[in-house]
Amino acid sequence: MEFIPSICPGCCINCGLYIVRDEDGGIRIDYRKSSSVNEGKLCRFGVELGDLYSQEHLKATVNGKEVDFNTAKKEALKRLKKTDPRSTGFLAMGNSTNEEIRAFKKLAGELGIRNIDCGLSKQILNVPEAARNYLTAGVPLREIEQAEKILLISFNPENYPLIIRRLLRAERNGAELLKVGSGEPYVGRGAIIVSELAPTSDPASIRQIIEEADDTATILFMKPYANLNGAIRLGFYGFDLIEAIRSDEIKSLFLLDPPPGYEDIFHDLELLVVQSDHESEVTEMADITLPSPRFFERRGTVVNVEGDVLPVGGDSGAGVEIPSKIIFP
Ligand code: SF4
Repeated sequence: MEFIPSICPGCCINCGLYIVRDEDGGIRIDYRKSSSVNEGKLCRFGVELGDLYSQEHLKATVNGKEVDFNTAKKEALKRLKKTDPRSTGFLAMGNSTNEEIRAFKKLAGELGIRNIDCGLSKQILNVPEAARNYLTAGVPLREIEQAEKILLISFNPENYPLIIRRLLRAERNGAELLKVGSGEPYVGRGAIIVSELAPTSDPASIRQIIEEADDTATILFMKPYANLNGAIRLGFYGFDLIEAIRSDEIKSLFLLDPPPGYEDIFHDLELLVVQSDHESEVTEMADITLPSPRFFERRGTVVNVEGDVLPVGGDSGAGVEIPSKIIFP
């Protein structure tokens, strides 16, 4: 039996846990009590992570037929080079390590493709450049417990169950806890402001939160995927790809570790290349699939909700090598 210290890829909290590999190859999760960000606790997604990791591993394919890995890589390069960079995009929605995102960005640059997005370009670009550091500012979760005033702005704590424990403790400690709807007035002085930055967030509301917070307030934007903080800090944004795909402006796409929930937008692309660790509805519609290691097997880091750079725990660099070797075989 092997215990691998790892983190949950289910959201930006990146709860610490152990991956337990049984002798028969089965994978399950165990609690990592020394992990301070989640104090050893996990939500249902984390507890059931073993099921996700036990899914069928993605195979290298071209036009739905299984091929060897090098053939898929060569075909990906050949087809990406044939596309018009103006109508081609690279989308990485934060389910990858910093190292993978950096390699992916580099490949886009080598191919002359400037349409890159982590799914949040629309919101990020609406915030003045000098204020964008607020979008990824890390806040130690224990500070929530010690806050005197907490504002939840357009934020549903149930989407981030581990936050609920902190809010309850804050209330027990005497904190004033207020829920504020989009556009409603509030006084943020001295408060910890918790909101969500997700692909569906209203860009105007995100900007307003930053503009209205004064120096005495702390802003925490929760994010729905493992490493959107890393993607933003690495500058993986600049073009609203989701909208451009919907409007048919983007015809070819390289998609890195897609999350569920966006399947409907990829149907009509002329070229879809997907790098992922498991089969999904999106990989089934892809022209080319490139298998990467399961998340816990990756050698790399993410930036968590507290601003810490955490190792994922694995020792495979294959997820970084795929984009690197596509361009430099
Ligand atoms: S709160 Fe987020 S990181 Fe923690 S176990 Fe749940 S999904 Fe995973």
